[in-house]
Order: sequence, then structure tokens, then C-alpha cells
Amino acid sequence: MKFSTITSRTLLAVSLAFAGAFAAVAPAQAAAPMQHKQVPGFYRTMIGDYEVTALYDGGGSIDSSLLHGDPALIQSLLARSFQNDPKQVSATVQGFLVNTGSKLVLIDTGSGGHWGPPTLGKLVQNLKASGYKPEQIDLVLLTHLHADHAGGIYQNGKRVFPNATVMMTKADADFWLSKEIMAKAPEEAKIFFKVAQEGAAPYIAAGKWKPYEGLAEIVPGIAPYAIPGHTPGHTGYMISSKGQSLLIWGDVAHVGAVQMPHPEISIVFDSDSATAIKTREALLVKLAADKTMIAAAHMPFPGLGRLRKADNGEGYDWVSATFLNLE
Ligand SMILES: [Zn+2]
Repeated sequence: MKFSTITSRTLLAVSLAFAGAFAAVAPAQAAAPMQHKQVPGFYRTMIGDYEVTALYDGGGSIDSSLLHGDPALIQSLLARSFQNDPKQVSATVQGFLVNTGSKLVLIDTGSGGHWGPPTLGKLVQNLKASGYKPEQIDLVLLTHLHADHAGGIYQNGKRVFPNATVMMTKADADFWLSKEIMAKAPEEAKIFFKVAQEGAAPYIAAGKWKPYEGLAEIVPGIAPYAIPGHTPGHTGYMISSKGQSLLIWGDVAHVGAVQMPHPEISIVFDSDSATAIKTREALLVKLAADKTMIAAAHMPFPGLGRLRKADNGEGYDWVSATFLNLE
């Protein structure tokens, strides 16, 4: 048998098979309803022996006029990130779950639907999708008591995490739980006090609300990390295991496309913007130099990445973590 014969016969058979296959699938081109449903909002990585799961609370948009800086510069920075509507800058909210092997620690809890658009408040749903239950959480650590971080701790006056102790800096607890400070606060800021107070109440009643001072390790490998400026007691948490580390940085930045290249641009939510700017500028220098992995509440989901000095000399680039298979 000649090789060329086999080839031409084989090709003929293959092309007939293809023709048949196309004929068979043609009717399926009829419109199928779009599904819209997204994948569950969780993403997992390892820091040494610790499992870290980013949990998506939701997304929305913020108006860039909330940023304090030259509007023309802000607009050009946004356009560089393909965000052409300065009134609708995309923003996400996420919390981070750390399983140390002996403790399950949730750092920030999303809004619980108590603040922001109805597209927020999905953290517990994503926690469940990720394989855990709210009652398994031993400890909730809050970076600060703003509603998009602390609102998720309660629903209908009850604790969402019935077995967890909730910890935050004493400075933040003293500020946001104060009726006197709330009474003097501008109307639009009162919601933050209201949510913090409603959220704290059932945990205080159960003896599970524990403000702390200082930077001592709270559980092995998880320690507060001073990041002052955003709120009176705003803090990060450094996760360390087997020589690897991750800084959960809370609200160091809200609009990465603007504040990474220009860390001197602040946002209206910062209670002490001069300190917040100083803190951000110094922290970005350090984190870019030591290449520490960062977990950010408001960088695009999953909010895990590192910083690198920008090639054009303008501040920093956020370099997202890559998707990893852990199994
Ligand atoms: Zn926030």
C-alpha cells in the first residue's frame, strides 16, 4: 500500500466526518438564553502554611470627585486604565479569611448590605461558596469600623459570626461607638457611626467585642501593623508563616489607578488626610522595595498583588497575583 493512498483516504474520511459534525450542530445555533451568573467570588492562595481566601463582598462604582487632587490629572490617570467615566470609577470590596490550621480568622467582613449599593453585602455567600460556615469563624479582625469593613458582622440585630470574638483597635472603637462624636458629625458621616454601633451591640452583649491597643501578635503569625490616617485607629494586619508574609492593608488606597501612580492624592473618606498621605507614601516605598504581597480591600478582586516602581517614574504599578492551582 502506498503512503499517498492512505493519506488521501484518511483526509477524505476526516473531511466527511467534519462535514457531518457541522451539519449535526447547526440547529444549536438558535439563541440560548444568557446565563449572567458569575463564578463564586472567592480566590485562594497560600502564605507559608496558612491558607488565605479572598472573599468578594461586591462591586460598584465611586465618583472620582471624592478624590482630592487635580481633576485633569485624575481624569488622565483613569483614562490610562480604560476608565473613561470619572463619575463611575469601578470599585470592589473584599475581606480575607486566614486558616492558620488551628484558627479561622476573618479580616474585614464587607458591608453586610448596610451601606453602599445592593451589589455589596455578598461576603457571607462567598464564604459559604468557599467551603466554610460563619459559625466556624473563631476571630474577626477589623482594619477599621467603616461600614464596608465592619457592616458584615451583623444582620437583624444578631451576630453573623456567633462563635467569633471581634477585635479592632481601641482608637477606632472609641471613636465610632461614641454617641457624642456621632452627634457632632456631618449628616452624611452618621451612617458609619450607626452601622458600627448596631454591629457592635450584639457582640458587646455576648462579651465578644474586644478592642485592643498596641501591635502585639494576636494569634501566632497574625499581628496588627500600624497604618494611621484613614480613621482614628486604622490598622493593617501582617500575616507571616514559614518566612512568607502578606500585609492586609485595609484602606491604604481606594482608586488604585490614581493613587498608585500618585499616592499624594487622598480621598474624602480619610479622616486625617495629611497623615493618610504620609502613611501611604512611606508604605508604598517600603512595600515596593521588599516585594511584600499585599491584600487590599479595594483593589480589583481578589485584591492580592505586589507593587513595583513604575517604569515611567510616576509612582507605582500594582502587579496582580496570578491564578494558582493549590490542589
Ligand atoms: Zn473601605
